[in-house]
Amino acid sequence: MKCAGADGAARRILITGASVAGNALAWWLTKRGFDVTVVERHPQFRDGGQNVDVRGAGREVLKKMGLERTVAGSGTGEKGVRFVDADDKTVAQFDLDGAGAEGPTAELEILRGDLARIFYDACGENVQFRFDDAIDTVVERGDIADVKFKSGTHSQYDLVVVAEGVGSTTRELLFPDENKPRWLDVTMGYFTIPKGEGDGDLCRIYTAGKGRSIWLRPDSKGTTRAILVVQKEADGDERLAPSEQKSFLRERFSDVDWEAERVLEGLETAEDLYFDVLRQVKMDRWSKGHVVLTGDAAWCATPIAGIGTTLAIVGAYVLAGELSRSTELCEALQRYEEVLRPYVEKGQNVPKLAPKMLQPQTILGVALQRAVLRIADTPGIKQVVTKLFVSSADGFELPSYAQVTS
Ligand SMILES: Cc1cc2nc3c(=O)[nH]c(=O)nc-3n(C[C@H](O)[C@H](O)[C@H](O)COP(=O)(O)OP(=O)(O)OC[C@H]3O[C@@H](n4cnc5c(N)ncnc54)[C@H](O)[C@@H]3O)c2cc1C
Repeated sequence: MKCAGADGAARRILITGASVAGNALAWWLTKRGFDVTVVERHPQFRDGGQNVDVRGAGREVLKKMGLERTVAGSGTGEKGVRFVDADDKTVAQFDLDGAGAEGPTAELEILRGDLARIFYDACGENVQFRFDDAIDTVVERGDIADVKFKSGTHSQYDLVVVAEGVGSTTRELLFPDENKPRWLDVTMGYFTIPKGEGDGDLCRIYTAGKGRSIWLRPDSKGTTRAILVVQKEADGDERLAPSEQKSFLRERFSDVDWEAERVLEGLETAEDLYFDVLRQVKMDRWSKGHVVLTGDAAWCATPIAGIGTTLAIVGAYVLAGELSRSTELCEALQRYEEVLRPYVEKGQNVPKLAPKMLQPQTILGVALQRAVLRIADTPGIKQVVTKLFVSSADGFELPSYAQVTS
């Protein structure tokens, strides 16, 4: 399969999904001379979302983009994590300084919407963004992909990149039944609430028993980001309508003490609830013909892995690099997968036990967890506790591609 335009003619690429993976990829592709359109189903650029972090090789990519300082300057300012009891007394505290980049709070902690916007702004006028539209069909015709959009228009591309996140409908359309999701038995609700007196620059985590925990995290907007976590078997909750999602969370946390009442009050009026039943995307292949998957749509590791955003940024760098290096599309897509798959698999290596240990079911389980946390400042145990939060972002060497001017 030839990559049309490899001799210098236009190489037209369509990306679907204007979030972290899609926008970072659009930036890299335009820097490498591709003609890029991004289609996003949301009516306008989609702000919102909570703390995501960039680690290891992801930071290296930001540096290459000349955006590391911009991202650091837009960070949430979170300084570490404090586990608390019902009276808000400290059970254990992990400061950013002590745990370093591998700790629960990464050095580059930023809100998802802010990060996606930094990439979006950096694309400037080099990328054509089409909001309020989506792919309807993709038909392979010889060396091109013929795309029909929901708006009724048609266009032809040399490559379609699907960056639509974990629930990607275009992936399901073009790779039917190929995703074999790995469910992590955790449901999470993320939303913004007014800042309270006890909300400082640490993330506070309260473990409530019956598989529940509440996380309160600082942001850079004068508000607080709340996360409600429920450890339970996945049984279709991802199909709940937005109003049902709120009822689900309200019912499960109504008997919780600590600051639950205030958090549930905030939930009532929150307009940015992001509800996710955690599952990893497991695909045996990431490309087919003139279509390739990237970001969460290809390999979602889930927020528990703490590496999804890093993988999205590194994936963008590698995909653009391989496409620019090779004159054969299928060769470039094959290399993209060869380079990234080991890193992705390492990132997805989240033990299913981790959410159970972080959200114990019984009173005894909560007591045991607190006992372990209290002695967690001994180096060996600290490593184990840290491993419960994140997969390692180390151990990946970025390939070198031709320089671009940032
Ligand atoms: C609104 C939102 C809030 C989030 N909040 C958090 C959070 O609080 N914590 C966390 O750890 N992770 C969060 N995530 C997920 C996080 O952004 C990703 O895990 C990671 O950054 C990888 O990003 P991605 O670009 O691959 O996918 P995503 O960030 O999920 O982006 C996918 C994009 O594709 C668009 N899209 C989806 N389907 C279509 C379609 N059919 N046609 C066109 N466009 C489509 C979506 O609107 C979105 O803009 C959030 C994602 C979103 C979209």
